Amino acid sequence: MEEDYVFKVVVIGDSGVGKTQLLGRFTRGDFCLDSKSTIGIEFQTRAADIAGRRVKAQIWDTAGQERYRAVTSAYYRGALGAMLVYDVTRRDSFAHAARWVAELRAHADKSIVVALVGNKADLAAVPGRREVEADEAEAFAEEQGLFFYEASALSGDNVEAAFLGLLQEIHAAVS
Ligand code: GDP
Repeated sequence: MEEDYVFKVVVIGDSGVGKTQLLGRFTRGDFCLDSKSTIGIEFQTRAADIAGRRVKAQIWDTAGQERYRAVTSAYYRGALGAMLVYDVTRRDSFAHAARWVAELRAHADKSIVVALVGNKADLAAVPGRREVEADEAEAFAEEQGLFFYEASALSGDNVEAAFLGLLQEIHAAVS
C-alpha cells in the first residue's frame, strides 16, 4: 500500500546503549542475542498508522560510527525525528546526552523532533544497577524541549510508545 508520508528518524547516543536493539525491536519485534557489531544496513523501515495516515518510518542506525565520532551531516540530512538513547545503568551515557543534543542542533534541521530514551529499564530492577533516575532525565528533557521515555529493548517495554510517540509528534509538526 502507498504511504502518505515517509519520516526519516535517526537513532543516536553512545555506543552500547542499545540503539540497534531498540531499532530491531520496533521494526522486527525481536531482540537479537548475538547482536552485530555492525549489520551494514543503514536504515530499516516500518509502517504505522498515525492519526489516520499511513506513515513509513525510515529509521537510521549509526552502525557503530559513533565510536569514531564520525556521525556525519549526511546522517542527519532530511531527518524529521531523532531518538537520543542513553543507558539507565551507565551514568556517562546520560552525561553525554547534552553533547548529542549539541550535535543535533549543529547538524540537524532546526525543527527536528527529539525523544530522549533511557534504555535497559529492565536492569533498573536489579539492586544497585540504576545510575540515572527517571526524574533527573525528565528534567533534562524538559529543559531541552525533548520528549522522554524509559524503555527496554530486551523486554519490549515502552519501545512502541517511544517510537510511535515520536512519529505522532513529527506528524503533528509537519501537518
Ligand atoms: P548500540 O551500540 O547502541 O547499537 O547498542 P546495541 O543495540 O548493540 O546493544 C549493546 C548491548 O546492550 C548488547 O549486548 C545488547 O544485548 C544490550 N542491550 C540492548 N538493549 C538492552 C536492554 O533493553 N536491556 C538489556 N538488559 N540489555 C540491552
